[in-house]
Amino acid sequence: MASIELKNLVKKYGDGFPAVNDVSLDIADGEFVILVGPSGCGKSTLLRMIVGLEDITSGDLMIDGKRVNDLAPRDRNLSMVFQNYALYPHLTVFENIAFPLRLAKGQHNEDEIRSKVNQASSMLELNEHLERKPANLSGGQRQRVAMGRAIVREADAFLFDEPLSNLDAKLRGQMRTEISRMQRRLGTTTVYVTHDQIEAMTLGDRVAVLKKGVLQQVASPRELYEQPVNLFVAGFIGSPPMNFLPAQVVGSTLKLPFVDVPISQNLADQIKGHEFVIAGIRPEYFKDASLGGVEGVRFSAVVDQTEWLGNEQYAYIPFEAPEAVHSTLEELDRDLDGEGLRTQLVVNLDARSRIREGQEAELVFDPELMHVFDPNSGDNLT
Ligand code: ATP
Repeated sequence: MASIELKNLVKKYGDGFPAVNDVSLDIADGEFVILVGPSGCGKSTLLRMIVGLEDITSGDLMIDGKRVNDLAPRDRNLSMVFQNYALYPHLTVFENIAFPLRLAKGQHNEDEIRSKVNQASSMLELNEHLERKPANLSGGQRQRVAMGRAIVREADAFLFDEPLSNLDAKLRGQMRTEISRMQRRLGTTTVYVTHDQIEAMTLGDRVAVLKKGVLQQVASPRELYEQPVNLFVAGFIGSPPMNFLPAQVVGSTLKLPFVDVPISQNLADQIKGHEFVIAGIRPEYFKDASLGGVEGVRFSAVVDQTEWLGNEQYAYIPFEAPEAVHSTLEELDRDLDGEGLRTQLVVNLDARSRIREGQEAELVFDPELMHVFDPNSGDNLT
């Protein structure tokens, strides 16, 4: 096992915009770190730089304190698991898993190989399939074979590039649990690329969020969710995403589309000079006031649409965004791969709520849970 240190890593393809731009990150021995961000933000490039499949334009990559920029991939002792599994179709499951051991010529005798493959295949429940070829396996089983191959190498770290994205939702859930269990059992340092919210929130000790090659925040899933450093992270982490509401600044009050919210003097001082800021409130922080039990700021609004999912429901409430914040919201939406200006409030309510489409709903939220963002820098001021 090993620690991995990224020091000011830069990757430029040709003379274009850097795909990875000055990324520094210390990954501790045994740690599980997730890399997330929208398509094209540089996640795979960063992973490929660590494993040695891409040259490093500048910066230092250290594994266990040693600079490995110029070390060939096979000499880095890292195991990579790809999205498409990269199995050999003509080899059985056993031989696919044994492959890295046979590649290290002369280092393992036949008994050792058999014992290592058997150990990995029992861990991954592949014992019954060892004589099959990959074509005769399900997607989940193929993914397990790819993991088995990574395990037998006893590499210093596992690198996963969206390993579950070809699986259906149910299997993804199962494999997610297996990967987590395997990593805990082996204690192997792991870097895992995904754009799946649930994988990002459940698998890692820490999550690193990238935007256009630049690291935005590295934190535990809870900290990212509760204390995002900027609009981008706030909008990227969480599903459905955080609501961003234009808020007119009037002294120590924020005028949101449906309600006035008092703010602290400290915050009022920070945002003095802004005509508008962006207020961020997660959908689940709103409650149906008629169900009682929640203190906070109350307001009423006409619900445009509802979706009842059995265990919860969503209500959609359109609002007007003043011209002054259009460019901020539009830019944010582009960064987040969105579909246009977000001018509806999304509220995630208890399934018991009797709120109906076309009717006025009485809602309440705790203003302590509201984030306030600088509309120019996007920084979280709360
Ligand atoms: P996705 O989630 O879509 O896989 P990603 O976050 O993994 O995206 P990368 O594949 O790392 O993103 O790509 C980062 C940027 O580098 C993109 O703008 C991409 O077009 C560019 N890029 C990646 N590989 C190359 C290459 N071989 N040559 C030129 N540009 C590349």
